[in-house]
Amino acid sequence: AIDVQQLHKYFGDLEVLKGIDFHVGRGEVVCVIGPSGSGKSTLLRCVNRLEEPTDGRIVINGTDITDEHVDLNRVRTAIGMVFQQFNLFPHLDVLNNLTIAQRRALKRKQGEAEEIAKRNLERVGLSDKVHAYPGQLSGGQQQRVAIARALSMDPEMMLFDEPTSALDPELVGEVLQVMKDLASEGMTMMVVTHEMGFAREVADRVVFMDGGVVVEENSPEELLENPQHERTKQFLSMVL
Ligand code: ATP
Ligand code: MG
Repeated sequence: AIDVQQLHKYFGDLEVLKGIDFHVGRGEVVCVIGPSGSGKSTLLRCVNRLEEPTDGRIVINGTDITDEHVDLNRVRTAIGMVFQQFNLFPHLDVLNNLTIAQRRALKRKQGEAEEIAKRNLERVGLSDKVHAYPGQLSGGQQQRVAIARALSMDPEMMLFDEPTSALDPELVGEVLQVMKDLASEGMTMMVVTHEMGFAREVADRVVFMDGGVVVEENSPEELLENPQHERTKQFLSMVL
């Protein structure tokens, strides 16, 4: 579970997160929506300490990861992250993209890492691309490789930051399908997305952020059909 309490984040004098309280229970899928610049990525990046929170607490499965003594490598291997840009290593084939972090961070032997990699490539429907290089794959395939790479670390939860925003429209569906499968297998997920159909269908809750605060959160039905705040209504009228 992810428990964010009164999270504040400044970049210099700019307060980007202004006291965020946020919870994702075990096995829950929470979608985060909101306008550009509202702080969605910063929130996500604080959750695995890619950004340093200025103030507040982030508790992951009972461990306060803002504690200075916490083992950041352990935190990061427990939390898989998938970005808009797939961030694959272009000079490594798919298999080695999936084994390198397993070997370095988890100290797995190459054989074991390859076995786990192949199992996860099968999960995302890319068993036939084991030896392809990222440049030989479509955007949708590259993003599925990125998801398989994250899964190969046996994460307890997954963070997605607009995983389909860089894709051509016809490739969005295959990535969302992989994410739906993960959700139905019980993965704990925090998903920043503009895909309202996905949020409606898959999310347990939707959180609307604006200006560094959580404006409102609710079930997808309630938040999308019956928003309570003017800012939420305005945003939804532009994206729905
Ligand atoms: P988008 O939908 O465009 O991805 P977002 O909701 O993810 O937007 P963030 O990327 O979290 O928004 O940015 C929130 C604010 O923080 C913006 O004003 C942005 O310019 C600022 N910001 C983000 N990263 C940095 C940084 N490294 N240094 C300075 N300011 C930053
Ligand atoms: Mg962002």
